[in-house]
Amino acid sequence: MIMISACLLGRNCKYSGGNNKNSRIIDLLRDYPVLPVCPEELGGLPTPRLPAEITNGDGSDVISGVARVISSRGDDFTRHFSRGAEKVKEMAKKHQVSLAILKERSPSCGVSQIYDGTFSGQTVPGCGVTTAGLRKAGVKVISEGDPLLEEIVSAVKER
Ligand code: SF4
Repeated sequence: MIMISACLLGRNCKYSGGNNKNSRIIDLLRDYPVLPVCPEELGGLPTPRLPAEITNGDGSDVISGVARVISSRGDDFTRHFSRGAEKVKEMAKKHQVSLAILKERSPSCGVSQIYDGTFSGQTVPGCGVTTAGLRKAGVKVISEGDPLLEEIVSAVKER
């Protein structure tokens, strides 16, 4: 089973109420069982919602309690993001997910880059909270822009 950020499949779960529909991914995963997830909705946040960014670290630091997820208005969303990451991790275990394809730069789903916490559009190296949780559970996580996406997905399909 491949897990995927639901917004990449065109679901309107993005903070703005829109999506990140990605035709390359949709074509690649056609006829293969996928498990779409939106960790922020699973964590109890509504859609649309305020944008949020991680301050003082990345998703791993949120899990270890040294960084927070803060909205553009200053609300602390850490609890929601952590709960969403935990639920996604449980779903991955239950459905024996071997690969997750998640949306780069999101504070939940980011794989190798996230926004820097200043809401200025600047990115820094690091991953989102859900990605950190999945990696800790041993799930391979790649982004929708991974240059080896096709090869990695083919290898999973052939197993
Ligand atoms: S939390 Fe992940 S799945 Fe949900 S909208 Fe953000 S990037 Fe997409």
